Amino acid sequence: DQFNTLPLPQSMLATLTQLGYERMTPIQAQALPPILAGQDLIAQSPTGSGKTAAFGIGLLTPLNPRFFGCQALVLSPTRELAGQITDELRKLARGMGNIKIVTLSGGVPFGPQAASLEQGAHVIVGTPGRVQDHLKRGTLSLDKLNCLVLDEADRMLDMGFVDAIREIIQQTPSRRQTLLFSATYPESLEQLTGEFQRNPAQVRI
Ligand code: AMP
Repeated sequence: DQFNTLPLPQSMLATLTQLGYERMTPIQAQALPPILAGQDLIAQSPTGSGKTAAFGIGLLTPLNPRFFGCQALVLSPTRELAGQITDELRKLARGMGNIKIVTLSGGVPFGPQAASLEQGAHVIVGTPGRVQDHLKRGTLSLDKLNCLVLDEADRMLDMGFVDAIREIIQQTPSRRQTLLFSATYPESLEQLTGEFQRNPAQVRI
């Protein structure tokens, strides 16, 4: 359960050491090998399990820092969670040079978000409604997306975000990686993953 058993660059291993992440948590040990191999994933895991770092390491590692287009998108049910995810991703990206991570949550003004997107961003973390608004108004494009993460997917469905999620996914390239994290895996979610995931690895802790 050491991070150095994974195909990670030295800079990422050094960052993990600096953060005091000495060993992988169980969800990281199970999820990172398929994620880094480019596979789709369904992970059933609670908060506090280290799931943010699991998908964070996975989405940051293949990023191209020289291309300022959205390469990874994380959808999250609430503004608070989106903020926490952004904080964790920024810590994990420390050793990677100039990586721009933008949070697009509802309940805050649209204008500054749009301005922040103008210079381009590598990673977006947002709530489904607000991400959808940006797509509709043309301030965000997902044409070059490689990795989509649905975090706390069961909560997003409970909150009525299913149509927003569907519309967002329709604007992403079909050959993307889709990672789904959820505390529970109800039938409604199984249906959604059946539509949008290809041959997903399944892990559970
Ligand atoms: P999460 O489940 O993503 O909310 O993470 C819970 C907490 O565990 C966060 O504060 C992380 O910074 C921390 N964490 C994640 N991975 C590790 C690790 N491998 N070793 C120690 N702490 C970790």
